Amino acid sequence: MTTQITCTRRIEFDAAHRVREHESKCRFLHGHRYVVEASFSANNLDNLGRIIDFGVVREKLGGWIDDNWDHNTILWEADAELGALIAVNTEQKIYYLPYNPTAENMAVYLLEKICPLLFKESGVQCTKIKLYETPNCYAEVTQ
Ligand SMILES: [Zn+2]
Repeated sequence: MTTQITCTRRIEFDAAHRVREHESKCRFLHGHRYVVEASFSANNLDNLGRIIDFGVVREKLGGWIDDNWDHNTILWEADAELGALIAVNTEQKIYYLPYNPTAENMAVYLLEKICPLLFKESGVQCTKIKLYETPNCYAEVTQ
């Protein structure tokens, strides 16, 4: 029998988004205090007793979020016209996703696109992203 161990780091950030073609007010540009919980799983621990150091998760994933999503606007590529209006006369670099920036899509994007790049050299795999859009609503994606 193998024991699976999981550790999770919580990271918070602020961003604006809109859900294009949403039936109700989520189609309007608005902001959230997002919370990401990134989990890493392993069958074995390192010689200090860790899966990955929590500080490394903060530095790598927290750093990426700071640089790309925090205090930014996250839009679908199809929304480039709105993005150009927001960015006019500012230095804001709108972050575009290949799909609507719902909590589900943002969680998938972190798990499938960003985490593999960030943690490749650490030799650990991010196995779950839980992304809260509000304290009551979150999306969860696992692999
Ligand atoms: Zn929203």
